[in-house]
Amino acid sequence: MISTRLILREVLKHDSKKILLRGLATVQRQRRTGLSAAQEKEIVRENWELRCQLATAYRAFEKFGMSEGICNHLTAKAPSLFKEEGVALLVPYGMYWSQVTPECFVGIDLKTAEVIEGLGREPETTAYSIHLGVYDARPDVQCVMHTHPQYSTTLSVLKDPTIQMISQNAARFRTNVAYDIGGYDGIANQGENTEGKRLGQALGDKDVLVMGNHGLLTVGETIPMAYDRHYYFERAAETQVLAYQTGKPLSYLPDDVAKRTEEGIYAYVTKEVVAKHLNALRNVFMKEDPTFIDPKNSEYMEYVG
Ligand SMILES: [Zn+2]
Repeated sequence: MISTRLILREVLKHDSKKILLRGLATVQRQRRTGLSAAQEKEIVRENWELRCQLATAYRAFEKFGMSEGICNHLTAKAPSLFKEEGVALLVPYGMYWSQVTPECFVGIDLKTAEVIEGLGREPETTAYSIHLGVYDARPDVQCVMHTHPQYSTTLSVLKDPTIQMISQNAARFRTNVAYDIGGYDGIANQGENTEGKRLGQALGDKDVLVMGNHGLLTVGETIPMAYDRHYYFERAAETQVLAYQTGKPLSYLPDDVAKRTEEGIYAYVTKEVVAKHLNALRNVFMKEDPTFIDPKNSEYMEYVG
């Protein structure tokens, strides 16, 4: 594989508009013009770093049992050498999350879902309708994560799926959760993008959406923030579902304590803190699998995306 990439690099150095992929097809694609060498380098650097973060999140959800088969999807907006508006990075269809690597991602057009980076790979199709609709509704977020984790999904099938103020983790989400109750209408339709629009509206200005009869969706201004919210909401839901199962009366936090806890966590959980969280996991995965992130592949991205 590496040797193929080396050959590709050499070929493409001579004609950057001509992309040869897998030796099977020749695709014409226009790189953005007018960028300085320094700007191109920065785009490649940032695109690669975002891929590393997103790959870490995929592996982490698999590690914690929050993935489901080869379904569900996490996406992040990233700058691209091929599209001024950037792309949404997304796992190719059919890849198990424990094997996701930074270079595997497909980069799709944020409006049309056309594959811009990773030509020839097939993205997970229901992601079009869910994620692009949410990005449309929330231009302030960089990352959207959607999974069917066991406990959040259990909450989502209850008549009252609301998170109860019974734990510290729950208090974090006291005023930052939206609920899409009774709106589930079958598998997301990729053609019309209606499900994404609907979910974007249901999310509103919150960062967590409990998707009725379906699962969980979080957004973040960064990838680590969306990940942190997703992980901790599932932990809060786990405590709540297990507490329900005991059948014993619940001990609710007084309103003022829940409010103070939410405010305290909000002040503590900064972009830097959540970045440390995801970075710690990245180190774990690098130790488990030193091939997980190969910096050499960041050069490869410059040519084939
Ligand atoms: Zn789903």
